[in-house]
Amino acid sequence: MTHVRITEDSGIPLVGSLYFGIIDRGTSLLQVRPSCGCNLNCPFCSVDAGPCSTTRATTYEVELEYLLSAIEEIAPFKGPGVECHIDSPGEPLLYSRLPELVKALKSTDPVTVVSLQTNGTLLDDIKITALAKAGLDRVNLSLHAVDPMLARELAGVDEYDINKVMGAAMAVAKSSIDLLIAPVYMPGINDAEIPKLIDFAKACDAGKRFPPLGIQKFERYKYGRTPKGVKVQSWWQFFNRSIKEWEKASGLCLRLDPNRDFGTFRRPSLPQVFKKGEKATVEIMAPGWIHGEMLGIARNRVISVYGCDKSSGQVRVRIVATKNNIYIGVPI
Ligand code: SF4
Repeated sequence: MTHVRITEDSGIPLVGSLYFGIIDRGTSLLQVRPSCGCNLNCPFCSVDAGPCSTTRATTYEVELEYLLSAIEEIAPFKGPGVECHIDSPGEPLLYSRLPELVKALKSTDPVTVVSLQTNGTLLDDIKITALAKAGLDRVNLSLHAVDPMLARELAGVDEYDINKVMGAAMAVAKSSIDLLIAPVYMPGINDAEIPKLIDFAKACDAGKRFPPLGIQKFERYKYGRTPKGVKVQSWWQFFNRSIKEWEKASGLCLRLDPNRDFGTFRRPSLPQVFKKGEKATVEIMAPGWIHGEMLGIARNRVISVYGCDKSSGQVRVRIVATKNNIYIGVPI
């Protein structure tokens, strides 16, 4: 794997890529991605991350000061009550300066909530204490099974220890950090585990300020992994069969609403700098995350250039995707 360190001097902007930097989807929540890379190999991973990935070729790490300067510039644009959600495609606890990042985000006006997505394997008492002290508000913990064998299978690594992760979950719930357990429901694979995870969330007193559980629907993705035996549901089946059934059995509200449950509001998006179909010249600056992809720069944005055979210099591209200021281009 190639490792790319993104500093202010690198000239690589922090908007435009899904892999690092800041993602603004037009709400009061900003996704903050300090790094990209994972220690697990989950067979259902939507981004084919981890040491055994067959498509991912690069890891990224953003210099803390550079990331903070971008947040200071973008957060005020969103208005009051911003949540910064640290959620790298991969495991954010691999970022060595995470507590410093949390502390700095928490003291940035108008940020009111800082939350973190994690698989929990790198959480221990020392890290939980440091994150709590830094002001972290919530941990969204990816936990997909309680059964040790199945949990290991779903992590894709032999050393995965569900007891350690559940112990860390309990320690988080006891700290000043709120715990939200976020399993991916894979029909045909972990059906029996979801009620156990609901019981576990109740037992460890998850969800004091936020909901205790955020059950996610399994989706197939072009560059993701699909485990054998999974039966993909429609959204109707997910909400009206599975979620309803678990709500009835548990007495919990499991259908989440971003506004009601997390205080997330629609807010103006950062202005888009390209239109779909537009042609542009980009400067190739770094390898992409997948084989055959390079990262180009133009108009202070990153553009993922697929099928690019140049490793430097300028390339003419057609912009084929612009949604949420995430840009994809193909050479012309
Ligand atoms: S699902 Fe999450 S924890 Fe699992 S391999 Fe993918 S990024 Fe890593």
